[in-house]
Amino acid sequence: MAKVAFLGLGVMGYPMAGHLRQQGHEVTVYNRTQAKAQAWVKEYGGCACATPKEAAIGQDMVFVCVGNDDDLRQVILGTDGALHGMAAGAILVDHTTASADAAREIAAALSAHSVAFLDAPVSGGQAGAENGVLTVMVGGDADIFAAVKPVIAAYARSAELMGPVGAGQLTKMVNQICIAGVVQGLAEALSFAENAGLNGEKVVEVISKGAAQSWQMENRYKTMLQGQYEFGFAVDWMRKDLNIALNEARRNGASLPLTALVDQFYAEVQAMGGNRWDTSSLMARQRKLQSK
Ligand code: NAP
Repeated sequence: MAKVAFLGLGVMGYPMAGHLRQQGHEVTVYNRTQAKAQAWVKEYGGCACATPKEAAIGQDMVFVCVGNDDDLRQVILGTDGALHGMAAGAILVDHTTASADAAREIAAALSAHSVAFLDAPVSGGQAGAENGVLTVMVGGDADIFAAVKPVIAAYARSAELMGPVGAGQLTKMVNQICIAGVVQGLAEALSFAENAGLNGEKVVEVISKGAAQSWQMENRYKTMLQGQYEFGFAVDWMRKDLNIALNEARRNGASLPLTALVDQFYAEVQAMGGNRWDTSSLMARQRKLQSK
């Protein structure tokens, strides 16, 4: 069993840290809003610290799942950051969806203190985290990955090493590019079904057994038809992810016209007050357009 810290107990981090504890690992947590850390300790045991640095002291591994590049820099490299508590030979695993540049920058800063780093963004959403069946895309050294893999198995159905540091984030960008187009397609299809006077549920029951099937269709069609978006993967996070992918594409020359368009649609959802709505809220935008 490993001695670990988990920094960032949001929608994803809270249940992920819980799975580590349930597997018998010794878990110390940190969350910026301390009430969440107290609630976690009450539910799972373990202990909570007031800063990332304190939480990181004496740990074999430190896991992080915060918001964006800047949050990551603050939690790891800031004055009270984890870097200042970690000993040589320890490993930091970052589950935040961030840029490949941030991953390389943080890996270099940690390396100067002989601390290893893996970028390890996840896919599978809130339900995947709660049920411990996430997909983890990893960048870093093979021997470090081999040491971490049995520990992250607590919340991962699959974890794969994709290449050197940054490769996990690049793989996650591919994942988000796929999702953007699929969710918009699903929103258009469901609103078309409504306008055509069809029973949306029955339509999906039939077409989900054929070539149109997708994770988004299976897991989101009901709530999209019901107009429920107060859960899941926030639109703010999706825009962050799409902007990371669009920036990377500007560098590597990939053409992403659909991703750029759907990003603008998400900006419209934000203007409707949907910053924290699930990404399937592209359906709310469709309905608004159709009601005009
Ligand atoms: P969330 O619920 O908003 O939680 C974010 C966590 O990060 C909170 O614990 C927050 O602390 C902490 N945090 C943010 N900025 C911080 C800072 N500057 N210093 C210290 N702590 C900070 O987000 P989430 O849904 O768990 O997502 C976390 C990451 O996973 C994101 O990068 C997201 O893109 C990615 N992701 C999410 C999903 C999903 O379905 N939700 C799926 C795959 C990947 P407070 O509690 O104090 O706000």
